[in-house]
Amino acid sequence: MATPAYISASAKPACIQSGPACPSFSGLRRTGFEQCMRAPSTFVDLEKVVACRSSRGVVTMAGTGKFFVGGNWKCNGSKDSIAKLVGDLNAAKLEDDVEVIVAPPFIYISQVKDSLTAPIQISAQNSWVGKGGAFTGEISAEQLKDIGCEWVILGHSERRHIIGESNEFTGKKAAYALEQNLKVIGCVGEKLEEREAGKTFDVCFEQLKAFADAVPSWDNIVIAYEPVWAIGTGKVATPQQAQEVHAAIRDWMAKNVTPEVAKKVRIIYGGSVNGANCAELAKQEDIDGFLVGGASLKGAEFATICNSVTAKKAVV
Ligand code: PEP
Repeated sequence: MATPAYISASAKPACIQSGPACPSFSGLRRTGFEQCMRAPSTFVDLEKVVACRSSRGVVTMAGTGKFFVGGNWKCNGSKDSIAKLVGDLNAAKLEDDVEVIVAPPFIYISQVKDSLTAPIQISAQNSWVGKGGAFTGEISAEQLKDIGCEWVILGHSERRHIIGESNEFTGKKAAYALEQNLKVIGCVGEKLEEREAGKTFDVCFEQLKAFADAVPSWDNIVIAYEPVWAIGTGKVATPQQAQEVHAAIRDWMAKNVTPEVAKKVRIIYGGSVNGANCAELAKQEDIDGFLVGGASLKGAEFATICNSVTAKKAVV
């Protein structure tokens, strides 16, 4: 796979040599963030910022945001298999400082909600773009709220690339879901050919812009960076590849939303995360958690991924 130009910066700490002083960290995300983040206007500037950030120690999330792990069950399961999975989750010991959600298929949401005793919130995997009505096969945000759903995953690559949902449509869905008081996990990520063409940033930024253009506030949004080539393929991004894109997303947020939002928003990684690779990924500075597909169908392994927050804390 070709390495995009922005990644090939061989981690030279340009900001240490000639740029702003690198910030120190305290507690959660680093202090002095805005200083290092000041409006990079060119690719070279962005490279400096990424290098500056990469040279830092690792911290956990800022603000009130906890480490966040979501389990996307997709179109899997039956009443029986879901009862077993919920039983395994109820039996698992989850760390206090991780926020966990699971996203069952619509028809099993009530079963899961009624049987989960673990501190896990419920998400839908999709919602309609507006108020319900004559939209065969769709489920509205109001209906999801009605059955006690708190979150919705929007812009998942399977919705974008199999169902054909556009950036703009996805942004509108997010805005409507937020208006109905659902929290949103907004997914972005590039396809393999886009990465190979050096377009990873462009694709992610366009998808982010569609969210930013539509939503009134980022308070209730978690961004999931999910490279399409890593979803369900067993090909996980390396911790460095994931960190580089997470840092770039945060830079984009600082320039195009506000530095405050950039500092606070949780950016989680998705794509073949499992019990064996989660700890190394979790240690990366800008990885604030995970969106997990396949491995979320195994209760014990999903709990291991949730508890990788301990790996993150260990390097703060
Ligand atoms: C996903 O579907 O969001 C996902 C990350 O899947 P997997 O973990 O199976 O790659």
